[in-house]
Amino acid sequence: MVVGCGRCDRCAAGRTAGCRAAAKIGHVAFDPAGPLALFGTFGTHVHLPRTAHVTRVPDDLPDEVAAPAACATATAAAALAAAVRASGRPLAGARVLVSGAGMLGLTAVAMAADAGAAEVVAVDVDRSRLRLATAFGASRTIVADGPTEAPGAGAHAADTHGANGDGVGGHGAAGHGAGGHGPDGPVPGRAGPVDVALDFSGAATAVAAALAALDGYGTLVLVGSVMPSPAVALDPERVVRGRLTITGVHNYEPADLDTAVAFLVRTHRAGLPWASLVARPIPLTGLAALLTGHSTGQPPRLAVRP
Ligand SMILES: [Zn+2]
Repeated sequence: MVVGCGRCDRCAAGRTAGCRAAAKIGHVAFDPAGPLALFGTFGTHVHLPRTAHVTRVPDDLPDEVAAPAACATATAAAALAAAVRASGRPLAGARVLVSGAGMLGLTAVAMAADAGAAEVVAVDVDRSRLRLATAFGASRTIVADGPTEAPGAGAHAADTHGANGDGVGGHGAAGHGAGGHGPDGPVPGRAGPVDVALDFSGAATAVAAALAALDGYGTLVLVGSVMPSPAVALDPERVVRGRLTITGVHNYEPADLDTAVAFLVRTHRAGLPWASLVARPIPLTGLAALLTGHSTGQPPRLAVRP
């Protein structure tokens, strides 16, 4: 997770995820001469700066369940918190679209369902992931048309609309104001209309489809777009008349990690099969093959036990 400097304007505003001098635990190359020599992964020890946030994990939470907390689970928590903030409404009763059913997307599905969403629609190109989405609380799943051109998008790019990937799906909204169904909604049988759409795939076509799925006053939260991708067409009139909100989430705040661990503990004890999302650990010597050999049908998280 990001460790804020504790001194800049963003840290002062509680936005440590965007600290102007941020360091990221587990993401810093090993530098024996640097001030954070033990900041990487796969070590027996890790150097935690004074400003690092720590959340205690109860002993009864298996490693497989706890391991994704300080990454996927906390980021999903941050995305849902952003959706609530930006939309000004709770997730309870909301129609939610989750695009990209990898570790983050599946976690978002579980969190939205747990929050009492009226509908949780999951979209992915991989049917096995959609079966997992159902197990984690999706009320409906949509098989995307196929992989997109998204560069290295974790192999889980979703494309809900295929030919509509250029964003035309929402053009009917123009002139119809907000809040209506029918002419300003997306094509029946497709995803939507929804109040909140979360994209974890990072695929431009999936982002366009998620935007097109928004109902009036809808909120789109982009999370997966962390690498260059084709631009997505935006119809400004639809944003204005639909009172749409588009926001981005990158990294998370300490409170999101607390939320993540509490959520994992509670839902693990209630029987959600979190451990099924992590493959059987392999030794460190198999790391190279693991990094290059990922394919569909595997659990969303691979594991190394040094
Ligand atoms: Zn800072």
